[in-house]
Amino acid sequence: MALKINVIVREDEKSLNVSKSLCELALQKGFLIDEVNPDFVFSVGGDGTFLKAVHRYLTKVKHIKFVGIHTGSLGFFADFRPEDINNLLDNIIKEELNTNAYRLVKAEITQNNKKRNFYAVNEVRIENVHHTLVLDVYLNDEHLEMYRGNGVLVATQLGSTGYNKSIGGAVINRNLELLEYTKIAPIANSAFRPLVNPLIIGEKDVLVFNGKNANTYFGYDAFTKKLSDIPFSVKVSLSNKKITIVHRQNRPYSRILNESFLGGKHDI
Ligand code: NAP
Ligand code: MN
Repeated sequence: MALKINVIVREDEKSLNVSKSLCELALQKGFLIDEVNPDFVFSVGGDGTFLKAVHRYLTKVKHIKFVGIHTGSLGFFADFRPEDINNLLDNIIKEELNTNAYRLVKAEITQNNKKRNFYAVNEVRIENVHHTLVLDVYLNDEHLEMYRGNGVLVATQLGSTGYNKSIGGAVINRNLELLEYTKIAPIANSAFRPLVNPLIIGEKDVLVFNGKNANTYFGYDAFTKKLSDIPFSVKVSLSNKKITIVHRQNRPYSRILNESFLGGKHDI
């Protein structure tokens, strides 16, 4: 049976052109375009485009492999160059792919006795830019700390190089399955003493953030949502939901870090 693909594209001229030739080549090679139930979802653009592609298919991720093609600078998810597309399509047909599955981070928000679940590839965040956000933080049902500051995030290993890195979180090798709880501008003085270091937690651990500040926002990857002005509880853990990412064969994680952050030259 023919393999079905769909393409999520960033709306710039280069990405649109790459997406068009990708679709043409795929059709020539016998693939079908199927927006509803694709086997492979390509994102063409940057890492942000990849995140959008995952969220668009969040309810179907079990059956999909995600492939990132970059049209700007090489990214973490956007791993393939436009010139790799021909080989990539052939390798998909031959089933010669370098894939890995990654668990998403899950946040269960409770308000007014109602629960809602959210999932993220990079991180979930609780943020407030209007007033000092106060959060009562629990780790595995034990009280950990009172947090005061601009917000907190819990990143996956994949998200560790995103927002998490900008606020001093550790970069985590993508072969490790864990979460990192990092604080945004925590108030730490002789009166308030939160743990200022990022905290790494494992697959059995659960963090709970209880708060009640008005104008608090909940964020997950590229999305944000205003928590209505009533007390909230956000329970964060590693999800059983996984996404499968196709990686380039010859671009190990060390190279990705070097190219992204340390001035390493893009490919040979
Ligand atoms: P965006 O403004 O496009 O994203 C900010 C930057 O983060 C972009 O350069 C994006 O790369 C890059 N990025 C995304 N995921 C990454 C990852 N896992 N590792 C390294 N870099 C990554 O915003 P967006 O498209 O809405 O994406 C949302 C993500 O942006 C969030 O999940 C968060 O991690 C990140 N972010 C970072 C900051 C910060 O560092 N202060 C603030 C807000 C959000 P591309 O240009 O290739 O898309
Ligand atoms: Mn982006």
